[in-house]
Amino acid sequence: MTSTVELRNVTKSYGELQVVHGVDLQIDPGEFVVFVGPSGSGKSTLLRMVAGLEEITGGDLMIDGRTVNHIAPYERGIAMVFQSYALYPHMTVYKNLAFGLETAKMPKEEIKRRVQEAAEILQIEALLGRKPRQLSGGQRQRVAIGRAIVREPKLFLFDEPLSNLDAELRVQMRVEIAKLHKRLGNTTIYVTHDQVEAMTMAHKIVVLNNGRIEQVGSPLDLYNEPCNRFVAGFIGSPK
Ligand code: ADP
Ligand code: MG
Repeated sequence: MTSTVELRNVTKSYGELQVVHGVDLQIDPGEFVVFVGPSGSGKSTLLRMVAGLEEITGGDLMIDGRTVNHIAPYERGIAMVFQSYALYPHMTVYKNLAFGLETAKMPKEEIKRRVQEAAEILQIEALLGRKPRQLSGGQRQRVAIGRAIVREPKLFLFDEPLSNLDAELRVQMRVEIAKLHKRLGNTTIYVTHDQVEAMTMAHKIVVLNNGRIEQVGSPLDLYNEPCNRFVAGFIGSPK
């Protein structure tokens, strides 16, 4: 089986400063993988390299078996949801969802179908005529996710999508994102610094520290068999 994403000895430096050190990782089709680690551990940098928003400095990056080291972001079949929702403030929700597809010259009927379907999945049908400022934080985040869904990507990338929401809404959205993944089945990489989010959402957790992978495993593996004290401490395992 070809991995959906594969990193081989991937490194990243900003000038003299190396922030990612020889990362090897394979992500299978349909997997929900969480990158977790403290602030500055390289989670966003890794995700942005997968997305093509940052060049890798060394190693190889493959998507569906194809080396994409120098392939542009829009040719990688991905969609990304950021912490700051980055909605277009002057556009309606409908337009926010449709805009990228219109730019790609997709037929109007197909755009309409995709927007309606995403709106239904995310339960934002009633909001399609509103502007972002007329939405709550949770609604905005749904729209941001909707904008990723309409592209029907094979790979979903989330970078701390819930960190601007209050605690209660965060728990609710966590459940919704997990449901969404069940329904759509897209391979997903989800970045968070929140251990609880990682433990409850992931099939596979990648624990990062100082630009290195400390351990990869299921939530249960990491809890039961943390490979070192950092992982044990970070995951909150009794060992
Ligand atoms: P995380 O998402 O886990 O908080 P990041 O991937 O954002 O971590 O950052 C990893 C390291 O890379 C940090 O030390 C950060 O300061 C550094 N870094 C990130 N982006 C840049 C950049 N554009 N220029 C220089 N250093 C950067
Ligand atoms: Mg980050």
